[in-house]
Amino acid sequence: MSQHSHPPSAPAQGHDHEHSTLGEMDLRVRALETLLTAKGYLDPAALDRIIETYETQVGPHNGARVVAKAWTEPAYADWLRRDATAAIASLGYAGRQGEHLVAVENTPGQHNLVVCTLCSCYPWPVLGLPPVWYKSAPYRAKAVIDPRGVLADFGVRLPADTAIRVWDSTAEIRYLVIPLRPPGTEGLSQDALAALVTRDAMIGTGLALEPPAQAADPSGVAP
Ligand code: FE
Repeated sequence: MSQHSHPPSAPAQGHDHEHSTLGEMDLRVRALETLLTAKGYLDPAALDRIIETYETQVGPHNGARVVAKAWTEPAYADWLRRDATAAIASLGYAGRQGEHLVAVENTPGQHNLVVCTLCSCYPWPVLGLPPVWYKSAPYRAKAVIDPRGVLADFGVRLPADTAIRVWDSTAEIRYLVIPLRPPGTEGLSQDALAALVTRDAMIGTGLALEPPAQAADPSGVAP
């Protein structure tokens, strides 16, 4: 599907279809897909192939590689700060819904949280398809009103003096959070580091995982 744009006065949330197991957006998408297929504008098989690609080949493991490289290579981290789209494309991650990527780096003083308040804009090349909750009206509304409350919902508690900055994605700009590198990971390879980087950590609703016990033990850290 082609990328959408944000109408300036689009309602942030519509009424809920309490009587249906499908959300309003799902109903709209199905109606549109049915209509376009009936008119011959859309090939359902081609659509299935696109979805399968993003479900099986493109996913958060791509973003995790970007983060692990940024953690271990200062020059790459610097490139990511200056031009994330190019730095990420250099690893082969580019394409639809990722034409303009911005990396936002967590620091001890600032945590970053990504939302699309109007719909579901998301950096597909590095994270794959967005989770259902990312597209939900409650997340989209609460992320801007009460970001600390959202983090608590996800089991994340930050120091009171850590500021939370919320980034509102658009069809033009998609954000990738670079989480803080966990302590005790100094000797880990990029592959081992990437395994600690979850999808939620790159949206900002989570933190990077603690390293496995033997890696946290100084005697287990590689020289
Ligand atoms: Fe959107």
